[in-house]
Amino acid sequence: MNLLERAELAPADPILGLTEAFNNDGRSDKVNLGVGVYLDEGGKVPLMEAVREAEQRIVAEAKPHAYLPIDGLPAFRDEIRKLVFGADAPVLERTATVQAVAGTGALKVGADFLRQLNPSATVLISDPSWENHRALFTRAGFKVDTYRYYDAESRGVDLEGMLADLRGAAEGTIVVLHPCCHNPTGYDLTPEQWDRVVEVVAERGLFAFVDMAYQGFAAGLAEDGALVGKFVQSGLPFIVGTSYSKTFGLYGQRIGSLSVVGASADEARRVLSQLKIVIRTNYSNPPAHGAKIVAGVLADPALRGVWEDELAKMRNRIALLRKDLVKGLEAQGVTDMGFIAEQRGMFSYSGLTTHQMVRLREEFGIYGTDAGRMCVAALNADNVGRVAKAIAAVRS
Ligand code: PMP
Repeated sequence: MNLLERAELAPADPILGLTEAFNNDGRSDKVNLGVGVYLDEGGKVPLMEAVREAEQRIVAEAKPHAYLPIDGLPAFRDEIRKLVFGADAPVLERTATVQAVAGTGALKVGADFLRQLNPSATVLISDPSWENHRALFTRAGFKVDTYRYYDAESRGVDLEGMLADLRGAAEGTIVVLHPCCHNPTGYDLTPEQWDRVVEVVAERGLFAFVDMAYQGFAAGLAEDGALVGKFVQSGLPFIVGTSYSKTFGLYGQRIGSLSVVGASADEARRVLSQLKIVIRTNYSNPPAHGAKIVAGVLADPALRGVWEDELAKMRNRIALLRKDLVKGLEAQGVTDMGFIAEQRGMFSYSGLTTHQMVRLREEFGIYGTDAGRMCVAALNADNVGRVAKAIAAVRS
């Protein structure tokens, strides 16, 4: 018997499949707004100055490429714990932190760990959410459902719907939350709205999984990470995963973290021992280079300053690109898309229909997802006018 005969052809990944189609498009003025990557004015993934310097120091040291510990580079763990929870935060005593293979790896290690503890739990993700959330938690063995989030009518978050769905969830339900730069909509909750979410999570005995892939891309490091502080204050156990793909421009290095906040130091110790088993049986131990870069930047006050400035520049530039797109649309007579400037982070839910998105792709070589998501962080002075014109054309 040929076992491989049983392998069915799976559909291409919706986002990465879009990039493939983009790469195969011969038009020279094509624009890829499909994948979530920040591009500079020249249309390139930037090599951040702080990253370049940290990398040069690593190369100058010329150390051999030994294995890291199962839970990652200690200096990386120490530094990002401070970044996520604050320096000397008492909560660190009851928190288990491991290096992760970027944000996706953090979600998968977290999912595998939680599944061992409660195989019958449902995972609730926002409607809509990052495509991979549903697939990843389903593959990990969970039943995945959604809570209301995007309100197309009001162009914002359906907070009351979200709270009602969380109130209706069974005790022990795992709730995946985007603390900032919601992917794909670009609509975030206000601090006061988050207070209400944390309250319901506590009341209903839910378990929060905070997926923080964009800390520093919306309003600032502290503001974007504020939800973590709220959960710490609540005293609830919870998980936070982070990614440094976007905020350090380290997409291909696959660097992130997973922290599980428990009730006590003893609980954190037991949790850490379980996380290590998940890691050991998946990929044994994580890659070193990205961890060394992030640790090198964060541990050196001067380099950290350079990084924070560069992060602020990316954040501010994205906000400007949003405004430029709105202006460009207005110049084309499209006056009802000002909401793009109010959204935050890399993505914009444009409100365009699948048909309009297909037209953008086929007639103009502008690639966004069928659901209408566009990565505004891939716009620049050169292409924003063309994108605005094309949107106006497919809407008319
Ligand atoms: N979570 C969310 C919400 C994301 O948008 C992303 C990136 N698109 C990730 C996790 C994973 O990012 P990565 O694995 O590339 O760090």
